[in-house]
Amino acid sequence: MLIQKDIDLQDKHSFHCPAKTEYWVEYAHVDELRQILVEANDFALPIMPVGGCCNLLFCKDYEGILLHSCIKDWKILEEDEDSLLLQAGAGINWDEWVALTVEKGWGGLQNLSGIPGEVGASPVQNIGAYGVEAKDCIEAVQVFDRETLQLKTLKAEECCFGYRMSRFKEDWKELYIVCYVHFRLSKKPSFCLDYGKLKEEVEALGEVSLSNVRQAVLSIRNSKLPDPDKLGNAGSFFKNPCIPQADFAALQADYPDMPSWPQKDGSVKISAAWLIDKAGWKGYREGDAGVCETQALVLVNHGNAHGEDIYRLYEKIAADVEEKFHIKLYPEVVILK
Ligand SMILES: Cc1cc2nc3c(=O)[nH]c(=O)nc-3n(C[C@H](O)[C@H](O)[C@H](O)COP(=O)(O)OP(=O)(O)OC[C@H]3O[C@@H](n4cnc5c(N)ncnc54)[C@H](O)[C@@H]3O)c2cc1C
Repeated sequence: MLIQKDIDLQDKHSFHCPAKTEYWVEYAHVDELRQILVEANDFALPIMPVGGCCNLLFCKDYEGILLHSCIKDWKILEEDEDSLLLQAGAGINWDEWVALTVEKGWGGLQNLSGIPGEVGASPVQNIGAYGVEAKDCIEAVQVFDRETLQLKTLKAEECCFGYRMSRFKEDWKELYIVCYVHFRLSKKPSFCLDYGKLKEEVEALGEVSLSNVRQAVLSIRNSKLPDPDKLGNAGSFFKNPCIPQADFAALQADYPDMPSWPQKDGSVKISAAWLIDKAGWKGYREGDAGVCETQALVLVNHGNAHGEDIYRLYEKIAADVEEKFHIKLYPEVVILK
């Protein structure tokens, strides 16, 4: 267990804006987590579980306890001819986990290669990329219940996974801490390559295999997304909006080239990057807060931006897009104001 007071977060989170936390606490076992939560009761401070802090914008210091899982063990829970059920600790680095599954020949997570952060956050945000979401492989989530101080297993159906959404971000936010995630992976993988240039990139590498899909995804990501250690960012700052079919038809009449994806519920998902680019914000910079030149969804810290600067830029972009297209943009990043 590690308990540190007044910790500088600038190097710990991917936006690298100046911020501190009152406490930074790490635990490697569920028993340690229980002990921390019992003792933390006396402090009456807010507590927030964090992983790699790759999806957070700190607009000010965190006056509470940031709780970081270092649970890094994994094991096979079940195995049959076709598939395996794996249990992975919340503190495992996400991309190392994907790399391990690809190396073993277990299919399911390969399209999610290269996403920064840790396993524990994957069900919270229902991370997704290249046509695949974590929910496609998550069978259950083992959590620590902050009220009963016991472990509990939640089935995927209970988690209400949606586009970058789950109950962990809503009514379960204060209740559960993710300790393990159970993934069902396939020994006879099928491939999802119908997203952008992925198929082309894989074919250029040779056969369609788990490792070639992983390599292709990594290479596309590296060409588009800035490395947070060189240019602070938290990935896509904005969610792609889903709008009713009638609103989409009206918009499409004016902008026939606007990318769109029909959804199962009848709504249409449209590209926030396209809206932001069309509104003229791609590559914009105000002080050290800016919009990435290669991907308009990503807000960046050019060096000395504060969280508030990034937040103000987000508000300006959202207001401008709303004025021009009558579409509201919402953040994907967790904003701590
Ligand atoms: C360059 C870059 C590219 C990115 N690309 C993608 C992408 O392609 N797809 C995508 O979906 N995301 C992407 N992201 C966003 C980010 O990587 C994911 O949201 C990731 O899951 C964050 O993991 P983390 O461990 O850093 O979580 P954190 O940022 O630390 O936390 C995120 C949220 O999860 C909660 N949380 C974390 N751990 C736990 C836990 N153990 N129990 C309960 N709650 C917890 C936190 O309280 C917070 O609400 C990108 C980010 C960057 C910087």
